[in-house]
Amino acid sequence: MTDLFARTRDLFRIPDGVVYLDGNSLGVMPKAVGARVQKTIDAEWGEMLITAWNKAGWMDMPAHVGDRIGRLIGAPAGSVTMGDTLSIKVYQALASALDLNPTRKVVLSDNGNFPTDLYMAQGLLASLGKGHELKIVAPEEVEANIDESVATLMITEVDYRTGRLHDMKRLTQKAHAAGALAIWDLAHSAGAIPVDLTGADADFAVGCTYKYLNGGPGAPAFIYVAPRLAEKVRPALSGWIGHEAPFAFDLDYRPGKGVERMRVGTPPILALTALDAALDAWDDVTMDQVRARSIELSEHFIAEVERRCPDLELASPGDPMMRGSQVSFRFAEGYAAIQALIAKGVIGDFRAPDIMRFGFTPLYLSLDDVTKAAEILEDIMANRLWDAPEFKARSKVT
Ligand SMILES: *Cc1c(COP(=O)(O)O)cnc(C)c1O
Repeated sequence: MTDLFARTRDLFRIPDGVVYLDGNSLGVMPKAVGARVQKTIDAEWGEMLITAWNKAGWMDMPAHVGDRIGRLIGAPAGSVTMGDTLSIKVYQALASALDLNPTRKVVLSDNGNFPTDLYMAQGLLASLGKGHELKIVAPEEVEANIDESVATLMITEVDYRTGRLHDMKRLTQKAHAAGALAIWDLAHSAGAIPVDLTGADADFAVGCTYKYLNGGPGAPAFIYVAPRLAEKVRPALSGWIGHEAPFAFDLDYRPGKGVERMRVGTPPILALTALDAALDAWDDVTMDQVRARSIELSEHFIAEVERRCPDLELASPGDPMMRGSQVSFRFAEGYAAIQALIAKGVIGDFRAPDIMRFGFTPLYLSLDDVTKAAEILEDIMANRLWDAPEFKARSKVT
């Protein structure tokens, strides 16, 4: 396994002297991306111009890339499409789910969800004006709150702050038994842990591709619709590229085939090209291999940090089976400590109010990286290196 991941590491451009523990926020750039995007620019956009939509297969890119991601999340070919941002995909999934369950009024989510999911739900429910309620409970309370009032669950599988993992299969079964649907946000799951959307019988899933999938800043999001629902769902964002025949230019909307109806406008070809190149790194690994390595790396990190840094309190579940591919520690001066780490080449991030967050990305991280990061963290904590004015000024992006 070490050889396998030494090979994948070589596919990435890792800046000298950097230990990158933030691939859960923005993945490292795969070396192949630059040349691939340049080729699309020169040989396709440059030479073929508009004919490239057909000749270079641009129009099929959302389906092609969707299928490649589908392989990593247990979704069959033809059930995933690409485009827009994750916030938009959350909106689409929720709107369609509510439409499928018109007599129910409750959207059930939890307070470990990423705020944009909740914000998008709030905006949608206000626009619908049908008296829906967004019910936000503690993560541990989700299961107990699934009842016959719930139209749909809207849950992020892995908590962005602590890494705590929900049981997708169990909660989906519970939802279905109560007559509710289940929407899963895989932002911190896709490329991080094995996901089996088919086995879990999820109704909708959405996710972004700039985190563990390394598609680059602002890379297009994905949406999955269970094949048993795909011909039934009404797309709320009924754009022309999701129309059954975009180039018929009909005045009335008719949804496209299956998940294609979740496309909205013109696909972002350069961004999809970068993502397509980035996905090559997954060709020779299985998600089970990635998971085993992720646990090895994160367990090593926890053991080293707990031994070296008594002031840090583990905020993630101690049982690796209960967390995704990230580890967080609480520390009141966590923001400054992360800035001090970054100054020494160890990149993690901070999530308010006191979470120091570290992502583990087996494709390009080694055990030596992890040991080095723990050593540097020990130096910062033991010598209070975080206690300096330059580490306390907050930037726009934390
Ligand atoms: C990262 C993340 C997002 C980000 O949404 P964008 O629209 O891509 O900015 C949304 N939801 C969750 C759960 C996330 O982790």
